[in-house]
Amino acid sequence: MTCSEFDLIRRFFSEQSLQRADVPLGIGDDAALLAPPPGKLLAISVDTLIAGVHFPLDTAARAVGHKSLAVNLSDLAAMGAEPAWATLALSLPTTDDSWLTGFSQGFFTLAREHGVQLVGGDTTRGPLSITMQVTGFVAQGQALTRSGAQVGDGIYLTGSIGDAGLGLHLYQQGAAVKDPNTEALIHRLEFPAPRVSAGLTLRGRASSAIDVSDGLAADLGHVLTASSVGADIQIEQLPLSSAYRTFAGADHWQAAVSAGDDYELCFTLPAGQAAVLDELDCPCTRIGVISATAGLRWHAANGTSITIDHTGFDHFASGRAS
Ligand code: ADP
Ligand code: MG
Repeated sequence: MTCSEFDLIRRFFSEQSLQRADVPLGIGDDAALLAPPPGKLLAISVDTLIAGVHFPLDTAARAVGHKSLAVNLSDLAAMGAEPAWATLALSLPTTDDSWLTGFSQGFFTLAREHGVQLVGGDTTRGPLSITMQVTGFVAQGQALTRSGAQVGDGIYLTGSIGDAGLGLHLYQQGAAVKDPNTEALIHRLEFPAPRVSAGLTLRGRASSAIDVSDGLAADLGHVLTASSVGADIQIEQLPLSSAYRTFAGADHWQAAVSAGDDYELCFTLPAGQAAVLDELDCPCTRIGVISATAGLRWHAANGTSITIDHTGFDHFASGRAS
């Protein structure tokens, strides 16, 4: 490592990190030394974000820093794990001070909010790419997995879906961020809020959980497969934000269940656990029920069943409603 690399790591990363008591040795040696709490399991997740693939090339550095941690915290949330440590492998085309300042601000603002310490990483020269790994803790038997959904369980969603996908569509259309609704939707895309505290509240109570990163249809599908069950969803119950409805209307629910990047939690709850819903710190909506009949079915209130065509947001361009 050259002096300038060391300087970069110190200025933008090691000096800004909070210090946790369970980190005897953080950034600066050949490896970090960590002291996991006795009796807890470690929950570990890693994600790579590549410029131009996972985020538009001109995305603000602060948003990239935030999102690279947020997507990983969302995975811990979906396991019911308490976040603790992060490592960061960064590939940078140039040493751009203003980009690194924005990136580290975005990262550390969210890291402080969740008590996460950056304990190590790697810095190389190459195309812009960020690999973030996070570690959290969860007691044995309390983790939320994809495989525990039972027939008769209610299916729930935190927050609202479709906003980030619509935000990306508006961003790609070059929408001027002037009206508050466009701004809110693009904000959902760039600064997703991982549902960490909801995940902690649900641990040991929900029968299964997943974070919605690839769209509700795909992600709930993973739960159904892992749990060997099916599901019936009431489309009028799908939580769509007021900003979403301004652009798309409630009849565009198919795009909302196909689009990704929302980072909400989708979880199943046995009837006897309904009291936990009042303890959640975020809005939560019951959207359907787990069934013994395999498959994912979508129903309108009038009893009609509907097949989704996964058109995403493409159809907005042609003005076709679906
Ligand atoms: P080594 O060559 O022994 O792998 P490095 O020179 O790559 O070590 O890194 C020196 C120290 O800086 C290590 O503790 C490493 O974890 C840390 N580090 C390097 N890059 C980053 C980064 N982007 N974020 C956080 N820590 C980093
Ligand atoms: Mg070394």
